Amino acid sequence: MEAASLYIGMDLGGTTFKALALTAEGTIVGRIQQDTQAARGPQVVVQRMIDALRQLQGETEADTHRLAAVGFGVPGILDLPEGIIRRSPNLPGWEGFNLRTALKQHLNLPIAIENDANAAVVGEMWLGAGRGTRHFIMLTLGTGVGGGVIVEGKIVHGVRGYGGELGHTVVDPNGHPCGCGSQGCLEQYASGTAIARLAEPHYGKVTARDVAEAAQRGEPPALEVYRQVGHYLGIACASFANMLNPECIAIGGGAANAFPLFIDALQASMRQRAFAEVCASVRVVHAQCGNDAGGFGAAYQALHYGSV
Ligand SMILES: [Zn+2]
Repeated sequence: MEAASLYIGMDLGGTTFKALALTAEGTIVGRIQQDTQAARGPQVVVQRMIDALRQLQGETEADTHRLAAVGFGVPGILDLPEGIIRRSPNLPGWEGFNLRTALKQHLNLPIAIENDANAAVVGEMWLGAGRGTRHFIMLTLGTGVGGGVIVEGKIVHGVRGYGGELGHTVVDPNGHPCGCGSQGCLEQYASGTAIARLAEPHYGKVTARDVAEAAQRGEPPALEVYRQVGHYLGIACASFANMLNPECIAIGGGAANAFPLFIDALQASMRQRAFAEVCASVRVVHAQCGNDAGGFGAAYQALHYGSV
């Protein structure tokens, strides 16, 4: 019997990296997680990732399974398909680093490199809330707001791989200044950072989690913060829906654990603005894959688009 193919998806973060080994059907057969040690520079981190891959390969390969390709989800702005890191606040000193060339010195296998946010969107389409869809959008509400767009089953990269920065969609042209240089970006109203800021007049210095807990206790100021979060998410989702007519918009990330607190305001705000026909065909749902989405997506990209 011919050995079945395995795909490893590596999700590289500034603090830790984790790799998942999956079959072509998306069954997890192994996983590994280690500290990135980003400050030691890209060559050391590449070596650490390769060592972890070899260990995971040793644990999962057998007569019945053979590693076929490896995908990498990498934070920051990348030139694709070369995989050159242009800007990455989480990976200091990596600017200009050609990840593909460095990996190819160690790996004699097809490789796929993807932005980490896009990888998470692909993973969610493959094995999570977007399963079975071909027109799919995901927003990730973390410290910032990430996102990505899938059209006809493929992630939208744009001309150089910078596409899908949904968190910087303007939802209030006169709104709060954004780190990107614009103002009123979605990120300023729906990230964990923004939720804490919106709650500050009532609660002082708190975290998004504190605000969610206050809202769950029924405290009106906290409930109002989440009504605002939903309102602004709905403005953005109306634009995405009118632009792309997706089947599903999934919302993930730590701050989306409060999904039940903002979904009604989101739906109301979106329906006020998007075409009724577009609203009728889109589901807005909580993402399902959690922290595994990036690894799933990196493996999926390796399976479908890996190249030597
Ligand atoms: Zn912005």
